Amino acid sequence: MSFQSLGLSEALLKAISEKGYTTPSPIQQKAIPPILEGKDILASAQTGTGKTAGFTLPILQLLSEKTTGKHRPIRALILTPTRELAAQVYANVKEYSTFLNIKSAVIFGGVNQNPQAATLRQGIDILVATPGRLLDLNNQGLLSLKQVEFFVLDEADRMLDMGFLRDIERVIKMIPVKRQNLMFSATFSKDIKRLAHGILNHPVQVEA
Ligand code: AMP
Repeated sequence: MSFQSLGLSEALLKAISEKGYTTPSPIQQKAIPPILEGKDILASAQTGTGKTAGFTLPILQLLSEKTTGKHRPIRALILTPTRELAAQVYANVKEYSTFLNIKSAVIFGGVNQNPQAATLRQGIDILVATPGRLLDLNNQGLLSLKQVEFFVLDEADRMLDMGFLRDIERVIKMIPVKRQNLMFSATFSKDIKRLAHGILNHPVQVEA
């Protein structure tokens, strides 16, 4: 299978080829088509499987098919458990969107919030965030999640291990009910299944 046959745009194929990828990884082959069809996904995937491109590429494709005006609302929200992962996912989003008119940003705790708030004010399409800083900035009215169309929960098992369940529930209340959800987890405990049940709508299950 090739990236072309997954139905990705020329702009994305160019970015993929600049990264040096030749073949989609198993999780990419299985996750990208249903995501492009608008389906919710529950994916079992460890780090190193290519899961980040697995959710980022189709989201970029769908977002770039519909442009918004100069005022860009946040249309995709990617939640990660740690700042390291947030930074890594953001770096990927940036690279894959090189040839698209899509803006992205990353926010996490432990650093001054002012530069993050300034970036958000400029309008961005995709936000990568850790839960605490996201809620902080939201509570201060520095961002709005009312137009989120895509919600990604990355490394959901680590999120729960780190005690983010209540924060995730708070975030869910801030985003529209009508949205596409993509949830990734390396393991599937009872708690993860319960969380998935509460968030996802008839998900397609995929395994790396
Ligand atoms: P991830 O599991 O998303 O953290 O990705 C693990 C690593 O695999 C990253 O360094 C990616 O840049 C790389 N990668 C992702 N997709 C592919 C692919 N289709 N071919 C080769 N490398 C890839």
